[in-house]
Amino acid sequence: MDTFTESTADIARNLARIRDEISSAEKAAGRAEGSVRLCAVSKFHGADKVLAALSCGQMLFGENRVQEARDKFESVRMTLTREDPSANLPELHIIGHLQTNKVKKAVEISRCIQSVDSVELLREIEKRCGQLEKSIDVFLELRTGEDSKSGYAESASLIESARSIAEGLCPHVTLRGLMTMAPLTDDTDLIRNSFRTLRRLKDEINSLFPDLPLTELSMGMSADFKIAVEEGSTMVRVGSAIFGGRGTAASPGEVSVNA
Ligand SMILES: *Cc1c(COP(=O)(O)O)cnc(C)c1O
Repeated sequence: MDTFTESTADIARNLARIRDEISSAEKAAGRAEGSVRLCAVSKFHGADKVLAALSCGQMLFGENRVQEARDKFESVRMTLTREDPSANLPELHIIGHLQTNKVKKAVEISRCIQSVDSVELLREIEKRCGQLEKSIDVFLELRTGEDSKSGYAESASLIESARSIAEGLCPHVTLRGLMTMAPLTDDTDLIRNSFRTLRRLKDEINSLFPDLPLTELSMGMSADFKIAVEEGSTMVRVGSAIFGGRGTAASPGEVSVNA
């Protein structure tokens, strides 16, 4: 059987299920239908999987490595524009820890960098966007789980970065939201606390700097996105539940990597 056809069917089924689960969670939490966006995390999966998701109307994608993202989405762009030069192109967000020497490429290929975790990184993003005469959206990432290596370790330093944006020091950068990864645990209280911490921080920044258009809370992944929606997430980043486990993680009903 044709591998591409098979995985397209799996991805379509997974996407439909997750969209359903997101809207049930929205309803259960008394939130407006459509208030949570789905970011499909396609890391470690090829351009064919991205094209399969696109064919199901999924337009927003997250990647955590710049080089991988660049190669993959360049290939996606070429395939799409070969068929239709005016095709709608997917929106790419960088969600993984970003080193300064990767910033130039990151701002060239993405609409948004969700993983900003230092004022130095912010300055580099501003500098590169200035050179390219391009504006970019950013989210500031807070570390809320002990095991996570990325994100501001202190909310105070995250707030200082928000302040420098609010004071106009990064004219090419628009601060749209906050991001976090909950700790990897079965303890739902810990996960919930992590999401609440991020939500409170957003409220605090909104009251400190009311002119910033900071509306997004990027929180929730395959294992915990329903809790995140209950706690106010506006964007869930889901990878393995759409594209399949990366090696071992596939659970019943999910795509296996070899499918
Ligand atoms: C990989 C990744 C995700 C998606 O994780 P899944 O468990 O596969 O849904 C979300 N956010 C970040 C920052 C990631 O690196």
